[in-house]
Amino acid sequence: MKHILVTGGAGFIGANFVHYWMDNYPNDTVVVLDALTYAGNLASLNPVKNHANFKFYQGDICDTGLVETLLREHHIDTLVNFAAESHVDRSITGPDTFIQTNIIGTYSLLKAAKKVWLDEGLNKGKHRFHHVSTDEVYGTLEPDAPAFSETTAYAPNSPYSASKAASDHLVRAYHHTYGLEVTTSNCSNNYGPYHFPEKLIPLVITNIVRNLPLPIYGDGLQVRDWLYVEDHARGIDKVLSHGRVGECYNIGGNNEWKNIDIIRLICRLMNKYFGDNPSLAAQFPGARSVIVGKADELICFVADRAGHDRRYAIDPRKSNIELKYQPKESFETGIVRSINWYLDNEMWWKELIEN
Ligand code: NAD
Repeated sequence: MKHILVTGGAGFIGANFVHYWMDNYPNDTVVVLDALTYAGNLASLNPVKNHANFKFYQGDICDTGLVETLLREHHIDTLVNFAAESHVDRSITGPDTFIQTNIIGTYSLLKAAKKVWLDEGLNKGKHRFHHVSTDEVYGTLEPDAPAFSETTAYAPNSPYSASKAASDHLVRAYHHTYGLEVTTSNCSNNYGPYHFPEKLIPLVITNIVRNLPLPIYGDGLQVRDWLYVEDHARGIDKVLSHGRVGECYNIGGNNEWKNIDIIRLICRLMNKYFGDNPSLAAQFPGARSVIVGKADELICFVADRAGHDRRYAIDPRKSNIELKYQPKESFETGIVRSINWYLDNEMWWKELIEN
């Protein structure tokens, strides 16, 4: 039985990971530490909040003393670090919090883990510090270049990816210097339930039902690899159970899409969905364009993001072979599940947009 500290567990991927973990390992203890920034939402943890083995603490990962206390009090043997500032656009307009949380915060977690697990000897030899990172640390790819592998040199281009790259290096250093038992996963773009509506896929879904423009950066031909968020949680599970200490694993979906094609896919699916379900359409009176099958007319092109990377793609062979990891969800079914989730949970995203 594990005692897991999940940092950033009220965010998009962290909350989905907590749900996945408590569904699959209900006897494990899951403790969430989250600062509840604009991106953290306690409502995302509602499905587990009454579980006997679940605990939530509001706090900052930069508070090393608090992290040490949680590690000791809950006999934590596994720390999974999702806590981060994660939105590239915000890192361009205000990098300070990215440096603070992503770099100093990860350093604070490493210091606390070293102190409690190595210096004090709690769970010595039986601990794991898992750091959740991104494929964006590898920089950008030419259209025909081979996908990023775990040995691709880091070349981050945004303050966000640079801060994640720095945190990855600190995690590596704590293993090589002090023997902390670490693993890192670098994942492609996630999508699915509880995704903050500023991100591409939820933005498109929630703008369509409100009859608002669907802004596309530049020419919309930027390519990303997409993974359903539950598949990311399964990938981290595989790394925790079968990953080798000190190693990094790329987790991806072999699923490259141009931004413009994703938006067109969502428009097509929602046009059909609302067309086939007039009673559902009646619940969203603002969804005028989709009700008449013309969501695509909301698409509009806006100035490109500064330094926008053209393409990310993950070579997942190491996790496929070593961890026997394969994503389960196809892109189209995952998008349909996401659309359904946003239509069924209007309260969740409306509150975020309005505040
Ligand atoms: P998110 O922004 O939705 O959630 C981040 C969470 O961290 C929020 O709940 C926030 O309140 C919390 N947090 C922020 N600063 C904190 C602090 N100082 N102390 C404690 N908690 C703090 O992010 P996400 O999309 O869920 O991403 C989670 C992790 O996965 C990040 O490390 C990100 O870099 C990585 N990642 C994300 C994606 C993606 O597509 N979203 C892909 C690959 C990797």
